[in-house]
Order: sequence, then C-alpha cells, then structure tokens
Amino acid sequence: MELSRRAMQIKASSTLAISAKAAELKAEGKDMVTFGVGEPDFDTPAHIREAAKKAIDEGKTRYTPAAGTMALRKAVCKKLKADNGLDYEPAQVIISNGAKHSLMNTFMAILNEGDEVIIPAPFWLSYSEMVKIAGGVPVIVHTKKENGFMLTKEELEGAYTSKTKALVLTSPSNPTGMISSLKDLEMIAEFAVSHDIFVISDEIYEKLIYAEGKKHISIASLGKEIYDRTIVINGVSKSYAMTGWRIGFTAAPLPVAKLMASLQSHMASNPNSIAQEATVAALEGPQECVEEMRLEFEKRRDYIYEREEAIPMISALKPEGAFYLFVDVSGTYGKSYKGREIHSAADFASVLLDEKFVAVVPCADFGMPDYIRLSYATSMEMIKKGMDRIEELVLGLA
Ligand code: PMP
Repeated sequence: MELSRRAMQIKASSTLAISAKAAELKAEGKDMVTFGVGEPDFDTPAHIREAAKKAIDEGKTRYTPAAGTMALRKAVCKKLKADNGLDYEPAQVIISNGAKHSLMNTFMAILNEGDEVIIPAPFWLSYSEMVKIAGGVPVIVHTKKENGFMLTKEELEGAYTSKTKALVLTSPSNPTGMISSLKDLEMIAEFAVSHDIFVISDEIYEKLIYAEGKKHISIASLGKEIYDRTIVINGVSKSYAMTGWRIGFTAAPLPVAKLMASLQSHMASNPNSIAQEATVAALEGPQECVEEMRLEFEKRRDYIYEREEAIPMISALKPEGAFYLFVDVSGTYGKSYKGREIHSAADFASVLLDEKFVAVVPCADFGMPDYIRLSYATSMEMIKKGMDRIEELVLGLA
C-alpha cells in the first residue's frame, strides 16, 4: 500500500536524532559531552512549578477553549504590549503545544498547494519540513557570513515570485545567534508590504540577548501595514526553561487567528490545561529568573566563543543572542583523524562523536553543510570539557 507522499518527503528531525544517538552512547557508559539539543539545562523556576501543582489541585484538569484559556491569552496580550509595544486582542492570540505547533498551525492556515515560503539560510531545520507538510514549497535563500547572516534586499527580491506567500524571520536566530537590526527589519517590512506577503516572525529567543546595545524589536511594531501582515510566534520553552511543558503562542491578524483556532480544535482540542496555568504564572510572575538564566548564558557564550577562536582551522561569528555557536569547519577539509578524512561538517561531527564523544549538530539540514552548531545550553564544566576535546581533535588532524 502506498503511504502518504507528502509525509514521505519529510525528513525526521536530525537534531532530535543526534540527541538520541548521544543518549545511546551515554547509556553504554561513554563519557559524553553534548552540544546538541537546544534546551536550557535549568529547572523550570519554582513559582511556575507551584502554579502547575495548584492547578492540578484546583481541578484545572479539563478541556480548555481550543485557542487556549482566556486568562493565558490575556496574559500574552499584556506581554506583547509591555515587551514589544504590540496591541492584540485575545481573539488574535492562539495558544498551542509549543512554538513548533504554533508554526505548523500558521503554515496550515495560510498556505495553499504550491505557495512558496522564503526561508533565509541558515534556518532552523523544521521550517522547511513544516512548509512541505502544509503543501507549500520552501524557497531557501542563502545569506552570507560577511553580511552577519542577514538577508540583503537583492537576495530577497531575487527569491520573490508570484507564488510567494510568506517569509520566515528568526531573530535572535537559531542557529547563528545573530539579531536583526532595525534597518534589517525595515528592509524586510518594506519588501513584505510592497509584495503583500506575510512575515512569520519567530521570536522565541527574544529574552536571550547578550550583544551590547542590541535589543529585540518585533517587526510587527514597525507600522500598521506590516502589523497586518505579521504573524508573531513566541513561547516559554527557551525563556522560562519550560521545553517539556509544550506551550507556544501566536499573535496574528484576526482571520488567520480564527483559522488557526479552528484547525487546532480538530487536531489537538487544546494545549495542556495545567501547562497553560503554569504559563500564566511565568508571564505574570517575577521575571528575575529570566535575567538570571540570561546572565548565565552570557557567561557561557563569552567562554565558548573565546575557546573556539583559539582553535585553528575553525571560525565563528560572536553570537549576539539565543544559545548557539555556529562554527565554520571547512578549514579542516582534506585533513584526517586516525585515517578518517573530513570533507564536510557531517564528517567532522561524526569523527568528533566517535573519537571524542562530543555530540554537535552538522548543519546541512539547516542549509549550511560547512557548519556545525554547538548549543551552549549546558554547564560550564561540560562546555570546558567539550571545547578541550574539540581542540584536541583539531590539533590532532593530519
Ligand atoms: N523556533 C525556533 C527557532 C526554535 O529553535 C525552536 C526550538 N528548537 C522552536 C521554535 C520551538 O520551540 P518549542 O519548544 O516552543 O516548540
């Protein structure tokens, strides 16, 4: 029997696969260091956990409205106003099972068969697969390191066709850690408005910014015309160390939000009721925990970047936000380690895993086959150990 052609063209998430391989090696007793997964290593702050326990005891254990509880949607509206200067009604806000689900709902709500979505590379690997699941066509546009991995107007215009429906924007970026400046955002907004396309603005790393003088700006705040075309995606996974709770949210023009709620009502009923209560506590409770985690990530960013810079043959830009270091390893091509030659970032990653028990993500699926991604959402001790081993590997290349 033939299975779904659409499902069969989707690649399983390679970042999750690497985590699984690292976990396997660890279970075999190997002394692993993993720079793989994009997940804060902190516990969810205590007041958020308490809110969840209370929710269970108070019987908040039933179906909620499909788009999420009114309390949470109002809390999201307040957050968007306070942090981003954005005005949204609760009817424009949809709570979903993580920002990943918010994105999937978005693509399902806006795409028709064959519609194109511009995705600047490097990109978070799920975007392209989600667009395909929704029947759309991902159009990958490569950015350049010398432009700080930011799109230029020429690159964008070159990707536009009459089928273009949307553009994905991620700032701070996974995997580069770069942040779009006001100028970058204005250029993108002008492009989107002039061609009348949507901007899907993934702002999940908004709270994790380290670069002096840089701040997060939501493109939706740049004027009514772009607000009307922007779909803002955010969530609590990264900023509040709540990856397992699975809460993300979308703020969108009302017709899009309505369709998303309708889709979600059939596909998921609603996001977890207890996690929604916990998220209200996250958004409305004390915010010091977010700053404490940001400061810790900043120390790690400084350390991992300094270590990487001292290693020959590999190079990176200093990340401005998120928790990833995006490393060009093409300088090692043609060299070998214990007889294994390196010709791609995938080769580099696999030698590193097998010989040094360090898991990193090779970035072919992020649109950049010469790069690896190191997540520094792990302890300083692990970062030190991992960087020692990467250094040993590179210095041992022949
Ligand atoms: N967007 C980006 C850019 C991400 O890196 C991730 C997580 N890796 C997500 C969205 C999804 O986050 P969530 O856990 O809320 O589904």
